[in-house]
Amino acid sequence: MQKNDIFQVEIMDIGVDGEGIGKYEGITFFIKDAVVGDLVEAKITKLKKNYGYARVEKIIKPSSDRVELKCSIAKRCGGCQIQQVSYQRQLKFKEDKVKNNLIRIGKFTKEEIESVFEPIVGMDDPFRYRNKAQYPVGMDKEGNIVTGFYAQRSHDIISIENNDCKLGITENAKILDLVKEYMQENSIKPYNENTKKGLVRHILIRKGFDTNQIMVCLIINGDILPKQEKLIEKLKGIQGMTSISINKNKENTNVILGKETVVIWGESYIKDFITLNEVNRDKTGRISFQRTDKKVGYQISAQSFFQVNPQQTEKLYSLALDYAGLKGEESVWDLYCGIGTISLFLANKAKNVYGVEIVEQAIEDAKRNAKLNNINNAKFFVGKAEDVISQFYQKNNIDGDNTSKQSIDTSVDEEMMKPDIIVVDPPRKGCDNLCLDTILNMAPPKIVYVSCDSATLARDLRYLCEGGYELKKVCPVDQFAQTTHVETVVLLTRVN
Ligand code: SAH
Repeated sequence: MQKNDIFQVEIMDIGVDGEGIGKYEGITFFIKDAVVGDLVEAKITKLKKNYGYARVEKIIKPSSDRVELKCSIAKRCGGCQIQQVSYQRQLKFKEDKVKNNLIRIGKFTKEEIESVFEPIVGMDDPFRYRNKAQYPVGMDKEGNIVTGFYAQRSHDIISIENNDCKLGITENAKILDLVKEYMQENSIKPYNENTKKGLVRHILIRKGFDTNQIMVCLIINGDILPKQEKLIEKLKGIQGMTSISINKNKENTNVILGKETVVIWGESYIKDFITLNEVNRDKTGRISFQRTDKKVGYQISAQSFFQVNPQQTEKLYSLALDYAGLKGEESVWDLYCGIGTISLFLANKAKNVYGVEIVEQAIEDAKRNAKLNNINNAKFFVGKAEDVISQFYQKNNIDGDNTSKQSIDTSVDEEMMKPDIIVVDPPRKGCDNLCLDTILNMAPPKIVYVSCDSATLARDLRYLCEGGYELKKVCPVDQFAQTTHVETVVLLTRVN
């Protein structure tokens, strides 16, 4: 066997990156674009000793889980990895992914996991869910301006048919057309990553799903946008347009946004609301959500982090709140709090909430958002979660007797040192060890872990369980349909 050989294979499984897995002559092949249950002819793209990679050449017999692609570039684009798989099968794949990581990396038994696992929370409509898109801008060989997405593992821009990505809002296409028109009419050049010349790098579009407010931000390799009034003229007619800005990024970097954003029309932010849901479970344990009339409002600037799937976010946060089981008397730490999204949800039901976040701007947003919602029982701290809580814990512990201390408010200190609940929502790399150790020292009766990477989640849960906690509930939530990503909420309680 060698590269470019073609062989017939039945797909038995799905790999972590969504690829099909099949065995041929004792060798395991990871086959791009194949669906579990397919019988395919595959062509070897890379061959190692015990495994290989291949690509589907021909589908001989399609799997019953194979569905027609909604987008003509799905195979090349890095955005959707499993669009060819039926949504029901995608959900099963994600449940299995979380379970497998908890068993393989977390070293929990299958029985332990099954006894705490709640069925995945899927979407009603798994398309058009993203409230944010960042399109790179470039030039094709004929000199036309193109906007699109990067191909898998590359920086080649693939232009999207009619500029209409099926995960995004329908307004994106019109906005991209207008920006391109403006660039062409005014000879504004796209940025070229190789030569570092040209002006427009990315176009960021955001929409508040509850408010219908829209924001457009052009990320430019410079300080000014020539003839910006021509762009404003075109864009302000779009229904819901609320904010038009430029963001300056003159660095040679993959990071999309630079530090400085200048508003050129309208507001510096858009508003959106997240609705609190009541969480119910039927006899089989399946979760259903009922929207309440309680909403939390947020101001979102171009640079703020905000969950990209608002329909699922309200379920995710409502579930986190359900797991927290607040009665109104609790003090809660919300670590990795971003712009305070979860904190403000918790503050509605807790006595006090303390949020910690590394990005200063996000904490300013969090404070403003608290005011906006008339929430007075949420405090926010800038810093690394591990540093802030460990310093806090040590300071109080060394002092020992709190009453002798000239503290701002010892009762608050006491409460912060012995919280009832700690919520964590770390980035993909998970929690730092110092953070986990301090949590163990603080020993709250409950921990709620919100995770966007089930591998690091599994690692951290093992650590917490060795330190005196047990798993009570685990529930995946699908925030990213058509992709292999999955969000998970976990409740741990302290064993006494
Ligand atoms: N809970 C928020 C944000 C979650 S994303 C929400 O749901 O909207 C994770 C956040 O952790 C990001 O805002 C990131 O800036 C922040 N972060 C990353 N490393 C951190 C650290 N060591 N300490 C505190 N925050 C950190």
